Parts: sequence; structure tokens; C-alpha cells
Amino acid sequence: MTAGSSMQTDNCDALLWEALPEEKPGLVRCRLCRHFCRIAPGGRGICGVRENIDGRLRTLTARRAAAVNLDPVEKKPLYHFYPGSYTLSLGTEGCNFSCLFCQNHALAHIIKTEKRSACRGQPADPAGIVGAALRSGAGSISYTYSEPTVFFELMLKTASLAAEHGLKNIMVSNGWQSEECLLALKDCIHAVNFDLKAFSENFYRKMCGASLEPVLDNLRRAVELGWWLEITTLLIPGENDSDEELYSLASFIRSQLGRDVPWHISRYHPAYKLKIPPTSTRSLERALQIGREAGLHYVYIGNLAGHEGENTCCPGCGWLLVRRVGYDVEIHTDGACPGCGETIPGRGWS
Ligand code: SF4
Repeated sequence: MTAGSSMQTDNCDALLWEALPEEKPGLVRCRLCRHFCRIAPGGRGICGVRENIDGRLRTLTARRAAAVNLDPVEKKPLYHFYPGSYTLSLGTEGCNFSCLFCQNHALAHIIKTEKRSACRGQPADPAGIVGAALRSGAGSISYTYSEPTVFFELMLKTASLAAEHGLKNIMVSNGWQSEECLLALKDCIHAVNFDLKAFSENFYRKMCGASLEPVLDNLRRAVELGWWLEITTLLIPGENDSDEELYSLASFIRSQLGRDVPWHISRYHPAYKLKIPPTSTRSLERALQIGREAGLHYVYIGNLAGHEGENTCCPGCGWLLVRRVGYDVEIHTDGACPGCGETIPGRGWS
């Protein structure tokens, strides 16, 4: 189901912000993400969904979900976290990045261009979301679609309640949170898929309005926090796909995060402001090969249903452990390779 479009002013007090009266009466600083926006009364942060109202930071996203769907967990993508299960997925409007190639721009950016005073979507509250997840048979709730950081308050309350009911929580994110934000989520998030959109500062600045180093810090932090981590890179022709850059990126994963961290190399399609042609199959296969040469055990091709690069094979003996065709999965492991006994990293194999 996709949410409707009813609209009302339903902002709420935001978390993680401070007043800066010594600098200017009414000025506030948001501490939710690495932009650390300073916002004057009447203004909004870069994400377009946190607003300074009379010297208090308010969020527009705490009560309204713009998209809610029951998805296979493979769609997040997470290939090593309760494979074959379903996850109730939700997202609100707003995003703290400005990616020219945004694949979800209708959710992420339209509130900024339309300068609306409220988010679109259906009413959402933690108890209702958790109840819907339990009734649907989902094993988890995913905070996804746009950028969950900008609906932190809704995510935190929902994830805490969901964990009490035995559900897992998944955050699919650009990885641009403040350290304080990640620590606040520490105990209720179980798995994350963070984008690593490129391995160059120039790309992050020019294409996303952000920077690379904080994302690398947060990838390391996700591992330290004990969250199951998978990484996605949308491969964009001529922008982030040189052999050197891909090798550096894969080497970073291997050396700083671990060779068992799955890396999803996803096919780009023209979207939003970037209209260059889609990624070729050859280019995706070259990136897959580079990931393997850099020493990664689990490298996947995404957005190309039916390609053998979707499958999981044992890095020790090559045994086919999971066959995937799009979101159809056939699992031939309980967490150990039937061929050689190697332990397959992840959670919830059996
Ligand atoms: S979430 Fe990020 S972009 Fe939005 S107001 Fe806070 S610091 Fe700015």
C-alpha cells in the first residue's frame, strides 16, 4: 500500500538541537546530522523538514509516513540478514542530501521545492506501525525510501517499541548522521544498509551536497555498534566508476570494515536531474571483479534481475548458497556452507 496525500500542520518538538541565544535571539542549531544547520526563526534546515518556530526546533515528519509497503528484505538491499523474510518499510518526505541522481526524488525533495508547511502522507504513529508489522507477519521494520535520519523522532520511538515486541529494525541510509544520533539509535537498530556513493570528496560535494569523510566515519561506527552492515554503491557511468576509485573503495571496506561486509553494486537508471544512460552490464561485471580482486568475500550486482551476480556463493569452495532472481530467493544454507563447512556471515540464516 502507498500512503495517500492528506495534509495538515502536525509538527512536533524535535530532538537533538540546541538554542544559540548568545549568537542571535531565537537561533537554533540542529544536531541530528553532519550539516549541523543553524536555523533562524521561521527558517528550515537543509532537509526541508525541520523548522525553527519561535526559537524551538520542530519536526514535520514525526506523524506522517509518505510511503508504507511490505517488502522482501532483499529489496533494502540486505542479503545476509534474515534472508527470505519480509520487512514493513516506511519513509517520510525530506532528505539531507541533494543527489542529482536521486531515485526517490518525489519523496526526498518536493517538500523543499513546493515550500509546503506540512508533509504529505498518511497518519503514522509508533504503536500503529508496530501493530501493522506484527499483523503482516514481517520480521522487521525498515526505515527507508527517503532518508530516515530526517524522521529520527518517528524512527526512534517506533524502533524502540518494535524491539520490545521482538521485531528487528533496519535503517537504510546515506550514513550522514551525527555521532549523537547514531548513539541514540544504538540499542534499537539491528541492521543497516549505508550508501557509499563514491570514493571521492569531489563526487560527494558536486553530486550530493555532502562530503565523504563523515560517511566513512559512520561506516566504521556501524561496525563498532555491532549493527549488521551492508553497503550499496550506485554505479554511475563516468562519475564514480573508474577502476582506481572502485579498487580504493573496495579496499577501504576490506581493510576498515571487514572482508565479509557485503557490497552491493547497483545499476543506475536516469532519474531526477541526471539523465545520462543507465549503467551497462559490462561495467557492473567489471566492478564486481574489482571488488573480488580487492579481497571482498560478498560482492553483489543489484537492479539487474536474473544476473548471477545476485547469488551468494561460498568464498571458500564456490558452493551456491543462495540463488536469487530479483526478490525470489532459494536458500541452501543454515549459516554454514554444505560444501566445506565455512561459516557464512550474517544474521538469521536458519
Ligand atoms: S537533520 Fe540535518 S539537514 Fe536537517 S536540519 Fe538537522 S542538521 Fe540540518
